[in-house]
Amino acid sequence: MSETARYTSAEEKAMRETVQSGEIPLCPRCAVLMTQRAIGGGSFGLGYHRQREWLLCPQCRRSVIFDVKRGTRL
Ligand SMILES: [Zn+2]
Repeated sequence: MSETARYTSAEEKAMRETVQSGEIPLCPRCAVLMTQRAIGGGSFGLGYHRQREWLLCPQCRRSVIFDVKRGTRL
C-alpha cells in the first residue's frame, strides 16, 4: 500500500528464527528468497559477537534488519 510498508512483527519473528537456524527465509508476502546481507562485522564497531542481518525482498522491496547473535544457540 505504501512505500514504507513493513512486515508485521509476527512475520519478522518468523524470519529471524529462520535466519538463526542458519537458513535464508522466504518473503512471507511473495514467497521469494530474501536477499541477505550482513551489516557490520568490524568497521562500524557494533560489538564483539553481535552482527546485524539485513534481509531485503527483491520483489516487494520490504526489508527487515535485526541483530543476530552468532555462535550462541538457544
Ligand atoms: Zn516480498
